[in-house]
Amino acid sequence: MTEESGGGRSRQLPVFHCPYCGDEELTPYGDGSDGWRCGACLRAFTVRLIATGVNE
Ligand SMILES: [Zn+2]
Repeated sequence: MTEESGGGRSRQLPVFHCPYCGDEELTPYGDGSDGWRCGACLRAFTVRLIATGVNE
């Protein structure tokens, strides 16, 4: 609902490791702003921030 491309708030999150195999060979993937492709396990996935300042 707050996915506004170009607004500056939904920029692509930096992902440094594949959450599935741990490899670092990640490249942007797809049309969305949060798609990544892992060159090691060939998975495509998204990482979405759902909250900040969560204490519990
Ligand atoms: Zn992977």
